[in-house]
Amino acid sequence: QVFLFISTDNKMDTQLHMFLFPFMERGHMIPMVDMAKLLAARGVKVTVITTPLNSIAISNSIHTSKSPSASNIHQLNLKFPSAEVGLPEGFEKGDSIVSPAMFPKFISTSNLLQTPFEEAVMEHRPHGIIADIFFTWVNDVATKFGIPKLNFHGTCFFSFCAMELLRIHKPYNQVSTDTEPFVIPHLPGEITYTKSKIPVFMRDDVKNDITEFFKRAQESDSTSYGVVVNSFYELEAEYADCYRNVLGRKAWHIGPLSLCNQETEEKTQRGKESAIDEHECLKWLDSKKPNSVVYACFGSMTKFSTDQLKEIANGLEASGKDFIWVVPKVDGEDEEEDQNWLPEGFEQRMEGKGLIIRGWAPQVLILDHPVMGGFVTHCGWNSTLEGIAAGVPMVTWPVAGEQFSNEKLVTEVLKIGVGVGVQNWVRSLGDLIKREAVEKAIRRVMEGEEAEEMRNRAKELGEMAKRAVAENGSSYSDLDALIKELKSLAF
Ligand code: UDP
Repeated sequence: QVFLFISTDNKMDTQLHMFLFPFMERGHMIPMVDMAKLLAARGVKVTVITTPLNSIAISNSIHTSKSPSASNIHQLNLKFPSAEVGLPEGFEKGDSIVSPAMFPKFISTSNLLQTPFEEAVMEHRPHGIIADIFFTWVNDVATKFGIPKLNFHGTCFFSFCAMELLRIHKPYNQVSTDTEPFVIPHLPGEITYTKSKIPVFMRDDVKNDITEFFKRAQESDSTSYGVVVNSFYELEAEYADCYRNVLGRKAWHIGPLSLCNQETEEKTQRGKESAIDEHECLKWLDSKKPNSVVYACFGSMTKFSTDQLKEIANGLEASGKDFIWVVPKVDGEDEEEDQNWLPEGFEQRMEGKGLIIRGWAPQVLILDHPVMGGFVTHCGWNSTLEGIAAGVPMVTWPVAGEQFSNEKLVTEVLKIGVGVGVQNWVRSLGDLIKREAVEKAIRRVMEGEEAEEMRNRAKELGEMAKRAVAENGSSYSDLDALIKELKSLAF
């Protein structure tokens, strides 16, 4: 006897199923969780792949969404094999990387996820995979199963083009010192750079496991089906075209991803539990004047020295502005033991004027508030784009990664910020920036005609960002195009 099974549920036959696989660092997971929400809202079934400890924050973010489409999002956890490489149990969160020296071990451990990931693909047979650029081996898995794989590298077109053109043409080999400027070949806009701002992992005079790893990661773009970019076309059209035409890659721009969080709770529960009650935070913000508050936050990884923290405190105070300053706290750190990073009497003097958040801040909630006047940022791409989407001018203080390049976009191309003056790429520490430089940069984005012009441009970009993700906007349409293309491959 032959049974024919005819499905009456049309959705089952045509619902696209995507695997999303973010790297286990906050700055990588946050935008991918937003991406999961966006895809789910367009009817795509999404499975977010991570490890058990990281799944908690992801689950919290997803479940704050009141949208019924959140039920399209599933989670699948792979065991992080810490013990196999001699790492302590639980060493699976990027937060555990307290020194750059730990990064190589974290990477080699994450490589061990290949087998369980492959088993998950075999079992669930997704129609497509969007994976973090750091999982270079996902390309092999996808090829083996004939599944289209898209890279997500969490930066903008501008920086990706800049980094890729530096890697290909190595113009830094034509200069004799670390500070001599050179132009990045084929990058629109005659953008100059110096060797001291190039990530060490990209320079060909440095060779180690990490430089090899980053090389593989960057090269994996050319063997992927395409890339998904957290940006919007109108922000950096020339560079989006450069990526597609000069570098010849397929790309879909679907950002700013952070804009999918509209409710207070969603904005608060993004990435990690907030160290401040959102109502308390909003009450403080509500008591200030429009465009008057400076928000200083350096992302999820930057750890400044005590000396640097003191300079920031003094700079904020000298600027005379109201401020919110986020100072990260290492989990389990004793607050009593850790008080000497503030200048004498600072908290008393700043009462009512400055709010220090020790730990995780509800960044998007803060940036979106109308009292926000300036954002002192390390130029991580998520933060930069969140600042742009909120229409807030910036003081740029890059530290590592491609942040120096993001700074160029903000200060030289978009002209919505001023640099605090960091010259050297040094993961986690950076140059020691003096209080006078902090004060001067803050005043430049907050006071006078130049500040007004930057604010107007920033606000215009913020409006453009919102239009891009609204129905029929450029990012909205590109996400549609991506889904359509993946469906045409799948069904
Ligand atoms: N973030 C936050 N609260 C904090 C610190 C960071 O919500 O106290 C979020 C921020 O909104 C952004 C992400 O963490 O979405 C940081 O990513 P980014 O690319 O800016 O920097 P990274 O942490 O990767 O250096």
